[in-house]
Amino acid sequence: MSRARPFHLTLIHPCVGRRAGMKGYIRTWQMEPVPAAMLAALTPPGVEKRFFDDRLEPIAYDAPTDLVAISVETYTARRAYQIASEYRRRGVPVVMGGFHATLCPEEVGRYCESLVIGEAERTFPELIDDYRHGRPQKVYRAEGRPALTVTPDRSIFAGKRYLGIRLVEFARGCRFKCDFCAITAFFGASQSHRPIERVLEELARVRRRGQMVFFIDDNLVSNLAAAKALMRALIPLKLRWVSQASINVAFDEEALELMRRSGCQGVLVGFESLEPAGLAEMNKRFNLMHGGPRQALANFRRHGIRIYGTFIFGYDADTAATIDATVRFAQEEGLYIAAFNHITPFPGTPLEARLREAGRLRFERWWLDDAYRYNMVPFHPKGMSAEALEHHCVQARRRFYAWRSILARGRQRVNRATLYMMANFVAINALHQWDIEGRNGLPLGDATFRGELLEAAS
Ligand code: SF4
Repeated sequence: MSRARPFHLTLIHPCVGRRAGMKGYIRTWQMEPVPAAMLAALTPPGVEKRFFDDRLEPIAYDAPTDLVAISVETYTARRAYQIASEYRRRGVPVVMGGFHATLCPEEVGRYCESLVIGEAERTFPELIDDYRHGRPQKVYRAEGRPALTVTPDRSIFAGKRYLGIRLVEFARGCRFKCDFCAITAFFGASQSHRPIERVLEELARVRRRGQMVFFIDDNLVSNLAAAKALMRALIPLKLRWVSQASINVAFDEEALELMRRSGCQGVLVGFESLEPAGLAEMNKRFNLMHGGPRQALANFRRHGIRIYGTFIFGYDADTAATIDATVRFAQEEGLYIAAFNHITPFPGTPLEARLREAGRLRFERWWLDDAYRYNMVPFHPKGMSAEALEHHCVQARRRFYAWRSILARGRQRVNRATLYMMANFVAINALHQWDIEGRNGLPLGDATFRGELLEAAS
């Protein structure tokens, strides 16, 4: 098929939701959307690209384009379908991929002309080629795990005001099988790695003086040998970096030493629960290894590593007292930052299947329900009502991010060990405090969207 102009692709990163008249967006959610940059890098040469970040700017629906690509997560599904409906009204085809597309393909397939299931490395270039040549297929399914050889094309971020932290990927997936985790459901409890030289090349290009690097890996240390090899290679760079890690790394002295020497400033650790019964229920009893969270935190601190601790509530043994004790634990341990969330039954996870089977889901599809709002508990917990769990989670955040608590945690030696991290501590805690009320009750999707969600022709 000959064309008078080059094929034009529009990439979109949808927001979670927006209230009518809302000014600005949740600031802690405004990091560079690396999946969009990956799709840009996977787009064959000769295709013109434009990128809209729905969190930062209006989408120019009427700008001419041949195809729209949206990466969908469960929290952004409703908004993605709204955006697709706008384009459908204009006769523009929409393709969707991402976690939600893989874990919930029947639903997502209703709102897009083509569906990418699994990782996009091999299928996305083929999909674009098919659209360019007028032979699109409905489903593009990745077989197995691709080699991670592509470097994100960050040129699409030019002129957009993201948080000043550089996001780089080394490993994708995780070998553990926590029952609530959509990541491990998506990747089938496996992990793949980019070649270290690619990571180093990318760092050399994107790194800015004084900026923190965030390795966005789901679990950087799922394969400790691979993580140690990366860290050894990072030592000469004199980076400052943060990432996400499972607790096992805290009991490997060599890994802790390499983290310190390679410039690790902190890691997010999913402690999830302090209750052995809760950890057993979520298949995360490994969090109790070698003395559990308190010993792990002492080990991290000894190596100057700050901790973003995340906790989830709503398992059968959890009560208001459990949440109260967890906040006290996070304060006593002087966590740098922390998250206190209810468990979320993501489609495709064992948790969701179990709650559905037991008839404990409050909504057929909470992520699409008109009545659902961010922070609402979408299932019936055993130890308290859904409303009480929601209330206690919000109160936990308010207590942890109250100024008195911030100042007390600021006295923890590791949090004030350097001027840079001390200033960062104040800024990031203030930002989290500010965002508590902003997120609370946020609608999923844009509240000003009018009309029906338009389904694709089957
Ligand atoms: S350790 Fe983290 S990334 Fe891995 S399965 Fe558990 S929650 Fe998911």
